[in-house]
Amino acid sequence: MIQQQESTIVEHHPMDVLLRQDRIPHIWCSGCGLGTSLTAFINAVRDCGIPLEKISVVSGIGCTGRVAGYLNLDSFHTTHGRALPFAVGLHLGNPSLKVIVFSGDGDLISIGGNHFIHTARKNMDITVICVNNFNYGMTGGQGAPTTPLGSRSTTTPYGNFEFPFNIPHLAAASGATYVARWTALDTRRLKNSMQEAILRRGFSVVEVISPCPTLFGRLNRLGTGLDMMKSYQENSVIRHGADPASVAMGKDGKIIVGKFVDIERPTYLDMMKQALGGRFNIPIPERSVDKTEIPMDGE
Ligand code: SF4
Repeated sequence: MIQQQESTIVEHHPMDVLLRQDRIPHIWCSGCGLGTSLTAFINAVRDCGIPLEKISVVSGIGCTGRVAGYLNLDSFHTTHGRALPFAVGLHLGNPSLKVIVFSGDGDLISIGGNHFIHTARKNMDITVICVNNFNYGMTGGQGAPTTPLGSRSTTTPYGNFEFPFNIPHLAAASGATYVARWTALDTRRLKNSMQEAILRRGFSVVEVISPCPTLFGRLNRLGTGLDMMKSYQENSVIRHGADPASVAMGKDGKIIVGKFVDIERPTYLDMMKQALGGRFNIPIPERSVDKTEIPMDGE
């Protein structure tokens, strides 16, 4: 009887359509922010109005890279750092697809860092969701190019003394046309921002600040995942339109979140069309020209 009740609940869960139930339970640790990040993403995909068969998700390696395997969409789990080149190939091979890269800071900004800046420079019509947990989680808590100054990791036992990347600044300076940052606690704003990024035309980036209590949290004595979420609540400040150069993590102990960049400029395919004129016969999807304003206040 209990089994029957449980099965009824699972079959009617609102995320059933987009989650591969046969891959559950997931591998993520208790208190990790990846669960709420994925939930926000699923809600954004469900509400964005693009047919599911026209959405493709690409991940690299790492804890965040597991997302591709849990989604009931056409999804690809690629090699470390190579999610973006794979996504570019997919986008250019079939521009009618909405290609979304969902991966971690180590994958996208370190090993795949060069791909990140050049895909932004070319303004490929691709959305990137970058979950930043300040370290390499899956491989054992090594320091990443996002590890804050002074923070401990397994490769910076005396505290990190390398300046970390400010991801929104890197994205904007490289050419991204939509840049936002939220924490894994801001689930509704994060969902709205992901939805807006998906509907924008060009290279759009949403950074998600997410707790990794098992490694980064433990090594830096930040407590449980809930403790880390509580610190997000106490320390994050919304500043829409802030100069991305001014939103580096750790400044005054604050986490500046919001939508920082939302501009239009021609995409790679627009430029190709302009250069080739009548010889260009690749259909660019209508979706890309929509500019829907979605409230960021979570209402
Ligand atoms: Fe999450 Fe860290 Fe565990 Fe990876 S190691 S699943 S990032 S808590």
